Amino acid sequence: MASSKLFSRLTIFPNYQVKLSALSCIKRNSMINNNMKTLVSYFSNSTKYQYDLVVIGGGSGGLAAAKEAVELGAKVAVFDYVTPSPRGSKWGLGGTCVNVGCIPKKLMHQAALLGEAIHEAAAFGWQIPGEPKSIINDWDSLKNAVQNHIKSVNWVTRVELRNKNVDYINGNGYFKDNHTVVGVMKNGDEKVVTADKIIIAVGGRPRYPDIPGALEYGITSDDIFSLDHAPGKTLIVGAGYIGLECAGFLNGLGYDATIMVRSIVLRGFDQQMANLVAEEMEQRGVHFIYQAKPKAVKKQDDGRLMVHWVDKNGEMHQDIYDTILFAIGREALTVQLKPENAGVQILQENKKIFAENEQTNVSNIFAVGDVLHKRPELTPVAIHAGKLLARRLFGNSVEQMDYTNVATTVFSPLEYGCVGMGEEDAITHYGKENIEVYHAFYKPTEFFIPQKNMSHCYVKVIALNNADERIVGMHFIGPHAGEVIQGFSAAIKCKLTFPILKSTVGIHPTSAEEFTRVFITKSSGMDPTPQSCCS
Ligand code: FAD
Repeated sequence: MASSKLFSRLTIFPNYQVKLSALSCIKRNSMINNNMKTLVSYFSNSTKYQYDLVVIGGGSGGLAAAKEAVELGAKVAVFDYVTPSPRGSKWGLGGTCVNVGCIPKKLMHQAALLGEAIHEAAAFGWQIPGEPKSIINDWDSLKNAVQNHIKSVNWVTRVELRNKNVDYINGNGYFKDNHTVVGVMKNGDEKVVTADKIIIAVGGRPRYPDIPGALEYGITSDDIFSLDHAPGKTLIVGAGYIGLECAGFLNGLGYDATIMVRSIVLRGFDQQMANLVAEEMEQRGVHFIYQAKPKAVKKQDDGRLMVHWVDKNGEMHQDIYDTILFAIGREALTVQLKPENAGVQILQENKKIFAENEQTNVSNIFAVGDVLHKRPELTPVAIHAGKLLARRLFGNSVEQMDYTNVATTVFSPLEYGCVGMGEEDAITHYGKENIEVYHAFYKPTEFFIPQKNMSHCYVKVIALNNADERIVGMHFIGPHAGEVIQGFSAAIKCKLTFPILKSTVGIHPTSAEEFTRVFITKSSGMDPTPQSCCS
């Protein structure tokens, strides 16, 4: 029997005894080849340790790897532990995305969009009792609904792990050596486990600036979604995607929101698109303080917060807020792991792990997710990399994670989705003379009747201007940007070219079809504003 066939049959045996008897069977077989030798060494090692795999961190990446590994017959344990935020917020199993990231963020974004829709509905003939302006959002109800959903996901995740026979250990893990992980439990007890292989999937937590009052009075994305009172007038420090999204939904929910920008908005994204997103937010009522840095936060007698900041000329300013939310970046949780005990190297500059193909510098220790250096910090990236890693470790797969052309979306009030390179990156990479930028403003049909602002609905396609005109970047600002860009990201993976995009027949009337209609190049200098909707 071919060894690969034998291997894949063996991987479906979840039971250790069965694996061992299968192993003796293989040993008797004279046809042992390289694959089978690997298998023999895998089983022999796994008898030395309690587990084939221990995963430290039960978030997107860790859980995906753990679940895939048990499916492939490995004995797996997952450590997951949430250290409360400085404000005392804590949550259950599942990591950042489920508890304090993508999911609560998207739900609050949706709540804000619904508020917008209520106001538009009157224009479409809906009889809304009273003045639409008097319709307000109740923070407690929203927060409770979001938290209840999260708790249900925590519960389902625990049940799923139990059903799959993954041992979940609610302990804060650290390395004793390269095969031993110690978990500090809530009551201070320590649980020690040994494993053949270990995956680090500890993710990160928000950073605080080193200024007086930041830790005492500030909150972060770890706290906003479970805040026990309405946030009121809020200063958001930081203009990355998390800062913009939080400011966007707070403004949409009716709170006064201000973003303090140190240098640029949405660093790392195409800057023309980033500025359009910011302009749109400004027109919707979000305030921006540019080129400023907070210096101190003080609590007043009335409980409100006095924030002092300095502008680019060194002049000091101050204003009073109910809430100050720091969204200035995230820090990998590696130091607490005592990586030195296992010999795992972390980078001094950002405490992340450089791991080519998710392999750390220690042969039996791997890493996935946000903890990885220079990899997109996104849930589907962590999940995909975790699954593929488990298949390489416990199946006979050789498939590596492809981190290129990962699509993403900023859930700002008017969403921004993109895949591939931004214009600046494409110019740096290929040279201005070797690319063509196609662009168009457009008018979503559903914006006409309520007379919504359409001046920032915009698409951009960046293509090489050589013979095949391969597309290297697609950018979209408009409704449902995530849904629009997802499909195009598959096309980019298939090496979409501009002629193919042009020959694609659109779906009318949609916003996504604008990609198939785009023909004006930036270099032509022609006006990219639309003449009519349907020609
Ligand atoms: P995490 O999900 O952070 O999981 C790590 C887990 O390990 C945590 O539970 C942590 O408490 C635990 N842990 C840490 N150290 C230890 C230890 N020593 N022992 C035991 N357990 C430990 N991504 C998207 O794709 N789309 C979005 O829309 C999106 N929105 C986001 C919005 C916000 C506000 C934030 C903060 C993030 C968002 N992300 C989004 C990013 C996404 O949440 C992360 O990329 C993803 O969660 C990373 O997964 P991970 O497995 O690396 O780590």
